[in-house]
Amino acid sequence: MKSIDLTGHKLLAMRDAQSAHSAGATSILVCEKCVLTPSARDFLAQNNIALVTSAPGKAASASAQVDAARAAQLSAHGANSGAALSKTAPNPRLFFTPEAEAIKKEICAVGRKLWMRQFVDGNGGNISYRIGPNEVICTPTLVSKFDLTPEDLSMVDLEGNQIAGTKPRTSEIFLHLEIYKAVSEAKSCVHCHPPHATAYAITGRVPPNLVIPEFEVFVGKVAISPYKTPGTAEFAQTVIPYVKQHNTVLLANHGIICWGDTVTHAEWYAEVLETYCWTLMLAAQLGVPISRITEEQGSDLLAIKKKLGLPDIRFDTSRMKECQLSDLEVPNSIALTPTPCDGSTGRPAEADLEALIKSVTDAVMGAIGEK
Ligand SMILES: [Zn+2]
Repeated sequence: MKSIDLTGHKLLAMRDAQSAHSAGATSILVCEKCVLTPSARDFLAQNNIALVTSAPGKAASASAQVDAARAAQLSAHGANSGAALSKTAPNPRLFFTPEAEAIKKEICAVGRKLWMRQFVDGNGGNISYRIGPNEVICTPTLVSKFDLTPEDLSMVDLEGNQIAGTKPRTSEIFLHLEIYKAVSEAKSCVHCHPPHATAYAITGRVPPNLVIPEFEVFVGKVAISPYKTPGTAEFAQTVIPYVKQHNTVLLANHGIICWGDTVTHAEWYAEVLETYCWTLMLAAQLGVPISRITEEQGSDLLAIKKKLGLPDIRFDTSRMKECQLSDLEVPNSIALTPTPCDGSTGRPAEADLEALIKSVTDAVMGAIGEK
């Protein structure tokens, strides 16, 4: 048993946890106001290093108990912790209700689907379900989605503090929590790395619309959020501008996140987006233009979508000019620069501008040469 005194630290980060581990510590003594980063907390739990607050009688195993951490407001979202206090107190008993047991089974089934479809690699991807106003069931960190069992799952409050379950929660939970805070209809979030959709995410492009009806109805316009380091509060907040009007967002240089009214439906949107991106890429290899659904036919699909209660930025008529139903003006491209209605700046990338200038110059020079 070796304890390391870090009561002088206001923040306990991953590197502090790692050096305590290298020094052979079995427990770390911290002050009550110490803030613990999620990755540090996960690391301590994985290595079975106990966290002990300087207040007497507050010892806790990082893997099994989070009470000490919660009491000390050990949250990477320090700025939000004040708000958390005014919310309904989380109810850990919700984790053991028949509804929770059914949700846990559904999460495990969806995890297997994600793995079988090669949407998650290694321990990648995460799934969550908001079971109460301040209670979210989620997948653990460092477990393959194929191997998930209901016992692996845990429950957190809306600030990411673990309130039930023995395995440490995913370090990506903050991404899900930002969506639950922003969209009251969102009951479940699925984050994964499907290869064809992620190919779009690493090029900063989005697929065109009005090609396949299912995609229009269940996903529609796809937004792309800017890259930030995964697991950070900054990363989690990148999706806020998009999630009210998009149930599916590409995460630049990373993957995708989808939300829905059930775990199963959130996973469906990932499937619909991935298959769409894949099909477009296959069609592009045929070397002939893709035929498109007309704007009028597209309006019919949008009407169906509205009836189903699914979100779409194209319902926002005040932004209809910038959020055209389709991108029919770019007929042969399967990878479009995001438009302002996708939440981007709307400014073409430097390379696109250069290509545009070159094509205009070539056309003008060609026309002059012909005269
Ligand atoms: Zn990821």
